[in-house]
Amino acid sequence: MSGMGCPQLGFPRLRVAAGRATGIAIEPDHTPPWGTVRQNPRTGGSWFAAAGGAVIFPDAWQFRWRCTTIGYEGSREFRIYMIPASYKPKKKFMQLAIAEAKRARDRGDYPIGAVITRLTGRREVVIASAGNRVKTSGSSIKHVELEMLKYVSSGYGRYLPDFVLYSTHEPCAMCAGACVWSRIGAVVYGVSQEDIAAYGRERGTEDYKWRACLIPCRLVFEKGNHRIPVTGGFLRQDCKQLFSYRPS
Ligand SMILES: [Zn+2]
Repeated sequence: MSGMGCPQLGFPRLRVAAGRATGIAIEPDHTPPWGTVRQNPRTGGSWFAAAGGAVIFPDAWQFRWRCTTIGYEGSREFRIYMIPASYKPKKKFMQLAIAEAKRARDRGDYPIGAVITRLTGRREVVIASAGNRVKTSGSSIKHVELEMLKYVSSGYGRYLPDFVLYSTHEPCAMCAGACVWSRIGAVVYGVSQEDIAAYGRERGTEDYKWRACLIPCRLVFEKGNHRIPVTGGFLRQDCKQLFSYRPS
């Protein structure tokens, strides 16, 4: 194992980054996993270098508005895709997070699950999914969202603006802070911290206290100047049922 350590998350390791360009993890074919190199169809060279820094193709303009240049390697420009404000969360990803939450409860952890997807154009694929391991790891700060952000960053680089975090429970202030620092592209959650607090007050037990941190993740993003699409209450009823889920 490398110095990154091996997070105990229970899903297969990410594809291994074979090298680095401008501080960005790249895959064996030397293309950043989330970068796109635009070729100039007339010259065969990269359009950016051919245009001397100016965009000359209309189609390039069309997607450039939600791209950010993250670096160059020779004449190749690496860019990342931001998540558009019109992003629509997908049920299947939250359902996977719910399944992870149940697996977590089955092994004696809090039933909290999360999924990180990557959006490339219209394609959205699961990069990682995991359940909470606070109890079985013996660390109260090993929240699943935080651990997953660390894990995905270990393979895809410091910043994750084209990734979406799905979580069955609203990220706490600590995890929302990690979202700010890792520049996650969008956040989708089921029940809120208020819901967690309400359940904890009424039904919390010695083993499952359900403590909450009543700072909305949106507030952390706002104070961190991190403007991203956030969807709360997504499949809320299904996520709420996790509170009373018990292993069969
Ligand atoms: Zn957290």
